[in-house]
Amino acid sequence: MIPVTKPYLPNREKLNQYIDGIYERQWLTNNGQLVQELTRRLEEYLGVENLLLVSNGTLALQVAYRALGVSDASPGALPEAITTPFTFIATASSLKWDGVQPVFADIDLDTWCLNPANIEAAITPNTQAIVPVHVFGNACNVEAIDTVAQKHNLKVIYDAAHAFGVKYKGESLLKYGDAATLSFHATKLFHTGEGGAIIFKRKEDLERAKIMINFGIADPESIEELGLNAKMNELQAAMGLCVLDEMEDNLKKRVEIWQRYEQALAQMLRFQTKHKALDYNFAYFPVVFDSEEQAVRVAAILKENGVSARRYFYPSLESVECLEAKADQPVSKDIASRILCLPIYDQLARSDQSRIIKIIVAELKA
Ligand SMILES: *Cc1c(COP(=O)(O)O)cnc(C)c1O
Repeated sequence: MIPVTKPYLPNREKLNQYIDGIYERQWLTNNGQLVQELTRRLEEYLGVENLLLVSNGTLALQVAYRALGVSDASPGALPEAITTPFTFIATASSLKWDGVQPVFADIDLDTWCLNPANIEAAITPNTQAIVPVHVFGNACNVEAIDTVAQKHNLKVIYDAAHAFGVKYKGESLLKYGDAATLSFHATKLFHTGEGGAIIFKRKEDLERAKIMINFGIADPESIEELGLNAKMNELQAAMGLCVLDEMEDNLKKRVEIWQRYEQALAQMLRFQTKHKALDYNFAYFPVVFDSEEQAVRVAAILKENGVSARRYFYPSLESVECLEAKADQPVSKDIASRILCLPIYDQLARSDQSRIIKIIVAELKA
């Protein structure tokens, strides 16, 4: 089976060397040497400051909400955050889990990111934050979102799980918002097996979050506030350091695959409209078909041929019952119903990709 993605596996000898070091130091977690090294290296690679490594991308979101006070509403009121229905479930479920009601606003038909006009329309007296997603690595309308947030005194936390290495107007896209979060899950462009990070705008928020991810322990004899355990460990950091060393090779292979799909399918299918000022990371290849029936049929035929193209992101999250959404989100629902993500990963063989393209083209012409 050709999967939709495969984890990037870095050089094994190098990983062994890092693990030898872990054995020598006998230090496995709690801000070890490799976690510190990876923090520095990622800040440099991404061109950001105030980066905190955590154990996964979902906890990155939850810790960011807490560190920024999103769950503190006035007594008796249920805090709300405005977010997108066109994303992975964790964006919205992490809010709900933290006692914050996700309120969906609809996406833009072309960029698939939150439409700022819809954000403003969804604001209530209980709104604490906006949680937009740079979906598939495309940049949200960060300037307009900033304006809405300032006007209504709201925090902005970008779920940037897809935006590793993406640049906007020549600088890291991760610099926008009070915080931006990353996922380093095995299937993401850059990974640590499981893992994640938060990039804070302000140093004081970073310092609070550092204590929060270690049970709220400020020093061994004082518990400063409510915390949890969201620390990254040394084995995760070792994997990250190895993957980071090979980013260039990983990216080069993805760009080639991405461009081949683009050339072969541009006349027949709709792609995401990327922001003009974007330097993209080639992490995903989503395509939109004319109808849901066509998307489902192509996915089934690919599957019969041993290829897994996934319906990301389907369903649109306002239809997920446990999130208790109130309103329909017609644009998100429409895009979600017609989208497929095609296989893209460094080891995808050229012959396999050609076969995938041939199957899709034949089906569309039929
Ligand atoms: C992967 C992902 C997450 C969750 O990250 P984990 O590291 O798997 O917890 C959150 N949001 C989006 C948009 C994602 O794609």
